[in-house]
Amino acid sequence: MDDYRLLIGGTLVPGDMTMDVINPATEEVLAVCPRGSEAQLDAAVAAAKAAFPAWSRRSMQERRDLLLKLADAIEAKTDSLARLLTQEQGKPLSESTAEIAYTAAFMRYLATLELSDRILEDNDNRRVEMRRKPLGVVGAIIPWNFPVLIVAFKMPVALLAGNTIVIKPAPTTPLTTLKLGELCAEIFPAGVINIVTDQNDLGGKLTTHPDIAKISFTGSTETGKKVMASAASTIKRITLELGGNDAAIVLPDADPKAIAPGIFGAAMMNAGQVCLAVKRVYAHSSIYEDLCAELAKLADAAIVDDGLAQGAQIGPLQNKMQYEKVKGFLDDARAAGTIIAGGETVDRPGYFIRPTIVRDVSDGSRIVDEEQFGPVLPVIRYDDAEEALERANASPWGLGGSVWGKDRDTAYDIATRMDSGTVWINKHLDFGPNIPFGGAKQSGIGVEFAEEGLHEFTQVQIINEAR
Ligand code: NAD
Repeated sequence: MDDYRLLIGGTLVPGDMTMDVINPATEEVLAVCPRGSEAQLDAAVAAAKAAFPAWSRRSMQERRDLLLKLADAIEAKTDSLARLLTQEQGKPLSESTAEIAYTAAFMRYLATLELSDRILEDNDNRRVEMRRKPLGVVGAIIPWNFPVLIVAFKMPVALLAGNTIVIKPAPTTPLTTLKLGELCAEIFPAGVINIVTDQNDLGGKLTTHPDIAKISFTGSTETGKKVMASAASTIKRITLELGGNDAAIVLPDADPKAIAPGIFGAAMMNAGQVCLAVKRVYAHSSIYEDLCAELAKLADAAIVDDGLAQGAQIGPLQNKMQYEKVKGFLDDARAAGTIIAGGETVDRPGYFIRPTIVRDVSDGSRIVDEEQFGPVLPVIRYDDAEEALERANASPWGLGGSVWGKDRDTAYDIATRMDSGTVWINKHLDFGPNIPFGGAKQSGIGVEFAEEGLHEFTQVQIINEAR
């Protein structure tokens, strides 16, 4: 218990309550973790509000320097943070190590962004200047699939723009974020960064809190709708990064053997628990058999194990609820199509499901239409690329998508007509802090990363001066 503390007003404090954090690879209690109360959330918001005037008056360079210092501190602790991340989240150590490295890299890049005032007009009549001011206290709500990296999507830009922040991790993955809090406590002035855990009961409170100016939320579309409704009470600014059901459209001229590893990797990373994972594949009839066979081969060969085990490629599902949900998808896949690899849990403690490939399946079944968020990939046959595009677009989501084929013009033409925020050609799941990222339709509102993402943490102010 003493190992983990909340961060409120610059002080590392115990929670008013406690909660168990489970290691999904063993189902054993990994740690007893502090759980924040409503009063502690209020205290965190009050501390962030009190810290705001002084923090927002600091120069961008001063704020940037502290963020860069934090990135260095995170990097210096890569090994211990990555190990803890694997134990609480489940992903293989190599993926956790990459997540910590990306966290430092995102922080470094985002800290270098600039916010400059613009003169829109300057003549005999008037001088019009556009400035960007910080909003106040930002509430950051984090999911359990990338519990550390997603903090680095939000916190550096919020702080760089001059805001202060209250971070709420997901209940099943708070530990590594709390360790990050210890580093923040050493580097930042009191109240600038606060971290409060919960048991899925404080998110609603944060989104209705009158002293929160903006909510930056990453999570499911269902919760995103609640966040949007709650934010209406005080017209909070919101950025919503929500669920997806990314389609990969494989054209007839694609080489199944060459592309299968790219599709498989983007479907199974983090046991499929990635917002931008490939979640359905539309494959042309002419290559359908070969692609299914190649994907099944990769699934059969994958090493499913505790993320700390040497050579593990796919870890457990992150929590019991998700495990049960994905098992439900397996039942649906069995009824709606043919499972040609995987399709089963692993006979040991832990929430393990073998990577699964489902063929002879079509739109209208749950495994195709819904977000499985697990290692189960449906492959759908099509004959006409226009029809595949139509089916890919006939989804309430629009996060990412990809087109695979040798003829660049055809692939590009289809890519531009996919209704999603990001479309890749001959790859999937490639992003970076300099590339704006956001969802179309019910996959979200607003963008993260780059200058566009930074602007979402600011209020435009016009100074219009008579001449
Ligand atoms: P979730 O919506 O269940 O939870 C996300 C966060 O919201 C958690 O911290 C949770 O405690 C909090 N929360 C719960 N109820 C709340 C409420 N009423 N108000 C405010 N906050 C509340 O999502 P999850 O299961 O943790 O994550 C998986 C989902 O996240 C998937 O749908 C995935 O696609 C999506 N996701 C999206 C992105 C993206 O960038 N678009 C990235 C990662 C994950």
